[in-house]
This record gives sequence, structure tokens and C-alpha cells, in this order.
Amino acid sequence: MGKPTGFLEYPRETAPEREPQARLEDWHEFRLPLAPDKLRQQGARCMDCGTPFCHSGILLSGMASGCPLHNLIPEWNDLVYRDLWRQALDRLHRTNDFPEFTGRVCPAPCEASCVLAIGDPAVAIKNIEYAITERGWENGWIVPLPPRVRTGKNVAVIGSGPAGLAAALQLNRAGHSVTVYERDDRPGGLLMYGIPNMKLEKEGVLLRRIELLEAEGIRFMLKTEVGKDVAAERLYREYDAIVVAIGAGKARDLVVRGRELPGIHFALEYLTAATRTLLDGVPETITARGKDVVVIGGGDTGTDCVATALRQGCRSVVQLEILPHPPQQRAPENPWPEWPKVYAADYGQKEAAERFSADPRRYGRTAIAFLPDAGGTLASVVCAEVGWQEKKPGVLVPGPIPGSETTLPAQLVLLALGFVGPEQELLDTLGVARTASGTISGENDRFATSIPAVFAAGDCRRGQSLVVWAISEGRRAAQECDAFLMGKPETL
Ligand code: FAD
Repeated sequence: MGKPTGFLEYPRETAPEREPQARLEDWHEFRLPLAPDKLRQQGARCMDCGTPFCHSGILLSGMASGCPLHNLIPEWNDLVYRDLWRQALDRLHRTNDFPEFTGRVCPAPCEASCVLAIGDPAVAIKNIEYAITERGWENGWIVPLPPRVRTGKNVAVIGSGPAGLAAALQLNRAGHSVTVYERDDRPGGLLMYGIPNMKLEKEGVLLRRIELLEAEGIRFMLKTEVGKDVAAERLYREYDAIVVAIGAGKARDLVVRGRELPGIHFALEYLTAATRTLLDGVPETITARGKDVVVIGGGDTGTDCVATALRQGCRSVVQLEILPHPPQQRAPENPWPEWPKVYAADYGQKEAAERFSADPRRYGRTAIAFLPDAGGTLASVVCAEVGWQEKKPGVLVPGPIPGSETTLPAQLVLLALGFVGPEQELLDTLGVARTASGTISGENDRFATSIPAVFAAGDCRRGQSLVVWAISEGRRAAQECDAFLMGKPETL
């Protein structure tokens, strides 16, 4: 802790954003870096707490809190304050394989757990993480680290999202020969086709890390779906271990009248098509251009749809959210800031407000029907206000309030209602046991599955979650897999 009085002297300052009007003209990242002197001040604000909740990942009010990767946050905060950037990068890489991803897209549960935030805004930890890693790339400090010795063991990783990539990196560095199977044409999972370019640049940021992994010796088999293009039995025959990291891609649907009309798409279908257009220069297959757009779902995915529709030139955009606003106050018995449920306007809503002079969000509303025009194409969405009824003691169930219906014009509807779990076909073929909700079971928070030599990590095991959790799970699964392969509990 270089400056014990830092938290008394400096306020929280975060990275600026590009002006909404300007950034709507392109697909580049909307955040700008924080100036180095401001970063050092933020580092100085860290109190180096005796119990650093920011990196603990403990349970607060029944919810996991702090960094799941156990990032050594007070240590690298201090190193940044003292201008020791290279050491800060080394410290950051000890626990996080991809800080350039989390530094951009993580909702920062670390900041929600910052002790300073009891009475003052938290240290801008995420901005510091971003700056450390970008400085590392700019200065050529981040280089391939292939293993010195190979163990002769072969591992297949299925899925190249953040969980699969973290598992592959760790297992490869431990000396095993790793092949990543990915059914898409590009690696990265939802980092590639999901999270839009405005939040995480694909070519400059994601692919530069993939190139590094390839240079370390990891083999990527793209356009190769396990269970279809390559049989699961072949993997069992040819590999000493398998890590399953296939995500939780089964989207939640909204089964109401008119759902079958053309013009209604799952958010991920839409976001994937938009990224393909950007990267391949192909025409938009699903477009918001000139249309009235209704996004159903008020989470991050919904926001990404709003921002994408604006860049494509939609005529109007509305985002429906079932929860009332404001939904949650800090519980009186809980002195800690709540989990960062972002009800302040996020980047997409700020951009919509700039373009249309109105917040696109409509709280406490849901869609109850989709209506066609005379030609049979989607023309409007019927919405209703949501009431909450206590069906069983303590269980509130939402439902439309009769008589509260209104109609919104819509030629494009995007369903951003979350994900219900992993696709089951491959898991059936592999024969791994699952929980009642269809995720892969792991006993006592372990990453082994019911089949020997098969491990699981990320959203397919944990359920729909966050990039930071996927990286954490990939690392921990790799650790267990390595111990299994080498017959010893080795710490990676
Ligand atoms: P995924 O990233 O889903 O990767 C799984 C991969 O497995 C995919 O590439 C898939 O093609 C591949 N695969 C599946 N089946 C097979 C098969 N049979 N053979 C070969 N390959 C297969 N989290 C954040 O922290 N911050 C955000 O801002 C954020 N924004 C998001 C925005 C959107 C639109 C979405 C949908 C999610 C967002 N998330 C965000 C969540 C985050 O992206 C996920 O939690 C994370 O990517 C999960 O990682 P994963 O590796 O488990 O799975």
C-alpha cells in the first residue's frame, strides 16, 4: 500500500466513453482508456484491506461475491500506483489468463465487494486491470510461453469459449498436447459470436490472444462439431482426457400467440449474424435497418441488441423488462452494496437516448402476442403490464394485468430472455450425468464428471454466467485434469 491516505485524497474516476453520437457511426469499442495519472490515483485509493473481499470470491448474503479468479487486486493496485507495470502484469497473469477480456466485459464483482464502497465509490479496479494488460501488449511483454517439456498426454477440449480457452492454456502450459474442437468458423465462443465488437474487438483483442495460444502449441479444429463431424467415441479412443466446455446455448423462448411469425429471432442468432457481417463483409442476414425493433429482455444481451440495432440504423427501438423499476433496494441488514444489477443506463440505452431522445426501456412489461400485417409479416407486439401474485407463500409469480394492454409497432423482435442450459445431444452421446436443469453435474464443486477422464467447465456446468466465471472454471478444471493425468495433485 504505497499511499495510505490515497482513499482520502482522490475520488473514484472511471474510463471515459466515446460520445454516443460518434460511436454509433462505427463498430469500434466505445470505452476509452483512463489517463495514467488517474490510474495511479485509483491504485492509491486501494486500502489494502486486511480481509480483501475484492479478491475473495466468498458468499455475501448468499451470493458469490468478489473475484472468482481470486485476482490479487490490492497487490497490482499498489504496483500500478508505484508505476511498476511489468510486475503488475505478472501478478495479474498469475490468476487471470485473459485480463484483456475481463478488463473490458466483466461486471466487476470485485468492485461490488470493495470495502471502500461502504462509504465511498469503489476503486476503479476494472479500469486498472484493462490498463495493465493493454500496456503489456503494447510493450511486447505478453509473449508465447510454450512448455519446456511435453508429457506425452493428449487432451481434447470441446468448445473454445473462455472456459475452453482457459483450460486449453493451462493444460498446454502443463506440457500436455491440447486440441480444441470448435463447431463455429472462428474460435472464442460467446466472446466471438455473442458479445458485440463495441464491447470487445474481435480482430485486435480476441484473435491476438488466440494467435498466442496457437504459438504456444494449442491446435484449433474449427468448423468441427463433436458428435457430428467427429464422433465422441473417437475422442474417447484418441485422447487421455476430455474437457467439455460447450456453453449453455439453449435460449429461453417466449411461447405466445404469433411466435412463429417471420421477424422474431433469438438475440444470439441476431448478434452472431451482425458480427459475421462485420468480419466477413457479407450482407446482413437479419437486419434492423429502417425497422421498428422490440427487444424483449432487460439484461446485458438485450442491451447488446439495442446497441446493434442502433448501429444498423433502426427506425425505433424499445426494450421490455419484466421487472419493475427500481427493483431492489439495499436490504436493511446488508451493509454491502448489492450485486451489480445494472439499472443505471448501460451503453446501449445511453446511445438510444441520444438517437431518439428517450430511454428505450419499459419496465414491468411483457409481450403477450405478436401480430401480423395483412401480408402475414410481423407488424406489432401486444404488451401488458406485469403484476406479481403470491401463488404459494413466499413465491411471487409474474403475470399480465388484464386491461393494461398496449401495442408497439415492430418489424423485428429480438428475444433476449436468457439461456436454459447446454444443448443435450453431445452430453447424451458422451454419457455424462446432468442436474435437473440439464447442466453437467460435478460433485462438491469438482470439475470431474460422472465419466472417468472427462471434465467440464463453464456455462455448461455452471449454467448461464459470466466470462470471469468461465475463465475460473476452465482453470480449475484444467488443474483437476492435470492431476488426473499425472497421478498427482499438481498446482498449476
Ligand atoms: P461459450 O462462450 O458459450 O462457448 C462454448 C463454445 O462451445 C461455443 O463456441 C460453441 O460453438 C462450442 N460448442 C458447443 N457445442 C459444441 C460441439 N458439439 N463441438 C464443438 N464445439 C461446440 N459475460 C460477461 O462477463 N460480460 C458480458 O458483457 C457478457 N455479455 C454477454 C453478451 C451476450 C450476448 C451473451 C449471450 C453472453 C454474455 N456474457 C457476458 C456471458 C458470457 O459470454 C458467458 O458466460 C461465457 O462466454 C461462457 O463461456 P463458456 O466457455 O462456458 O461458453
